[in-house]
Amino acid sequence: MEVYLDNSATTKCSKRAVDTMVNLLTADFGNPSSLHSMGAKAEEYVKEARKKIAKTLKAEEKEIFFTSGGTESNNLAILGCVEANKRAGNHIITTAIEHASVQQVFEHLKEEGYRVTYLPVDVSGVISLEALEEALDEETIFVSIMQVNNEIGTVEPIEEAVQLIRKKAPKAVIHVDAIQSYGKMAICPKKLKIDLLSVSGHKIHGPKGSGFLYIKDKTKIKPILFGGGQQKGMRSGTENVPAIAGLAEAAAEAYDHLEENVSHMYGLRDYFIEEVTKIEGVTVNGSTGMQAAPHIVSVSVEDVRSEVLLHSLEEKGIYVSAGSACSSNKPSVSRTLKAIGLKNNLLDSTVRFSFCESTTKEELDYTIANLKEIIPFRRKFTRK
Ligand code: PMP
Repeated sequence: MEVYLDNSATTKCSKRAVDTMVNLLTADFGNPSSLHSMGAKAEEYVKEARKKIAKTLKAEEKEIFFTSGGTESNNLAILGCVEANKRAGNHIITTAIEHASVQQVFEHLKEEGYRVTYLPVDVSGVISLEALEEALDEETIFVSIMQVNNEIGTVEPIEEAVQLIRKKAPKAVIHVDAIQSYGKMAICPKKLKIDLLSVSGHKIHGPKGSGFLYIKDKTKIKPILFGGGQQKGMRSGTENVPAIAGLAEAAAEAYDHLEENVSHMYGLRDYFIEEVTKIEGVTVNGSTGMQAAPHIVSVSVEDVRSEVLLHSLEEKGIYVSAGSACSSNKPSVSRTLKAIGLKNNLLDSTVRFSFCESTTKEELDYTIANLKEIIPFRRKFTRK
């Protein structure tokens, strides 16, 4: 049996997305910048994709800018806005548990001389609103908070944070990394009163190397890529039309079936948590219930190293993530797990199981049955 439980790392491309992409790679392959009819056709696909995506966010079409993925969306949001607003102040805020594509950009800006505040989180991974309130001042120009953490699934209190920011630092631009929340919850940037929102295509059954940044109309932002001036000069370079159209199909599918998909995943998640915690020495990290996303379960296993567990599961055809789930220099210690205060001995004994709408109870039963065998067996070597 093959059981793919690494959907937070990436997902299988949907058939609808693949069919659209094949057509755009082989038949309607024009460049949207070309003046002839093949160019116009390609441009039409980009427009249509923008329309479909705008609909999922109740946003305007002119507010959607396609990128090469979540990493570029986050870089563009942060670098582009901080650069455009640098005369208004030099304080920027983010959280201690952001993905590297936010955290590393803040580190870079710190080196450039910006004052950076990293908001701490509690044991469940929820940011401290008190720390946010305290940090905000007249110099604050930018705040970036993720909506769902990629390692432990915690949902952050974006509405409450936005209220505080708008009250204490009205000129601050607010960015949300929605890469793990888009397609798993209804999101309306206007209702949330945020300025920027990052999304990645390959987390929602779209192609890798696709994504977009929602930029609220009239937000002060500068491009980070220069060239032919595509996408109103915000993101130069020939649009990746197949990826853009594939992403739009995947997004439309996700939002057409949002409620049923989410309730299916919550059911699986709660069942998995109940069963996995029956195993001795196994604990679940982060929050549960509605304070956590439907598709992520982070599990610590006393006296079994993450990589050992990961590869033992792989031998049984089960695929999961270990360590800091989203870093290419694996194995690496997770900042999120450290920030929630996970005991040192569990930091490298943690694996992430992540589901999608096609995950089944049978797959989870198979996974649990294997965990029940692997964990005591592997422990024999650590516990003498
Ligand atoms: N932010 C979060 C929360 C993520 O989970 C990821 C992907 N692991 C990214 C950003 C980066 O997205 P991409 O892989 O599309 O560059």
